[in-house]
Amino acid sequence: MEIRAVVKTEVAAFTALEGYAPGLAVVLVGADAPSAVYLQQILRTCRTVGIEGRLVELAGDVSGGHLRRRILELNEDPLVSGIIVQMPLPPEIPLSVVTDAIDPAKDVDGIHPLNAGRLLLGHPGFVPTTAQAAVELLKRSGIELRGREVVVVGRSNVVGKPAAVLLTREDATVTVCHSRTVDLALHLARADVVLVAAGRPGLVNGSMLKPGATVVDIGINVVNRGLAGEALVGDVDFESARLVAGAITPVPGGVGPVTNALLMTHVLQAARAGAELARSISVSTAGVVPQ
Ligand code: NDP
Repeated sequence: MEIRAVVKTEVAAFTALEGYAPGLAVVLVGADAPSAVYLQQILRTCRTVGIEGRLVELAGDVSGGHLRRRILELNEDPLVSGIIVQMPLPPEIPLSVVTDAIDPAKDVDGIHPLNAGRLLLGHPGFVPTTAQAAVELLKRSGIELRGREVVVVGRSNVVGKPAAVLLTREDATVTVCHSRTVDLALHLARADVVLVAAGRPGLVNGSMLKPGATVVDIGINVVNRGLAGEALVGDVDFESARLVAGAITPVPGGVGPVTNALLMTHVLQAARAGAELARSISVSTAGVVPQ
């Protein structure tokens, strides 16, 4: 894949110049099936491109205070360029524990309020990678977004909302649907482009789509197929949807690999900014004459 090849070359150049590789700390609280699959893919992508992936595993019953301290330690670690904390967190730990603790400069998945605000205002900052990947995939596939009717299913802070902001920036006319939307099919029927991020297998099927619509399935769900064991599926019923859609992304495949590749670019970007900052601090310290 193109993004991954570029980032691999640039990571090699960074490592040769700085004498250390960019580092990504992946914090996992408790074992959650979809998260575990996702994490392994991230760590594999890190190895492929030369980024130092570090898995930080915390017990499922860890306290919010301990999680916060662990994130603060990672903020201070010069070999950690970026930090991601795998969601969902155990229900007892509010998301604010993570969003308040993580250094915005290491927040490579764009969950800190500062980065969320920058996205909304159109300022440079880290954008949530999954939302960015979905929109990037559309752009790179040559799907016209300007003036088109786009429906985003899901309004989470990490996927649905940022995707809607990015699509608006591309001049699409965006409708955001969620669990309280009265008639999802009504909205989908007029959509030229559909992005689904609800975490509900089979929520969208072919009968709900406008013929020729482009469908980006962001969902990742583990379903039990009885004797066939567990399988990874999206939120869209692929078999019925592909008969109606003009283009559709599969699960697995599709958005996931692009998300991982973009995450690597964010880590490299954070590493470069970190190295630059360290250089500017050492220059200014060198200028201080002890009394
Ligand atoms: P959340 O659970 O945080 O949000 C789900 C959203 O879907 C909510 O806004 C919810 O509405 C909406 N929703 C739920 N049920 C329905 C319904 N029946 N009809 C319409 N809307 C509904 O999930 P995330 O946003 O974190 O993730 C969404 C999916 O994307 C998951 O399957 C996740 O595994 C996957 N994912 C994939 C990634 C990738 O790299 N491909 C990375 C991250 C996530 P409401 O707000 O009203 O509750």
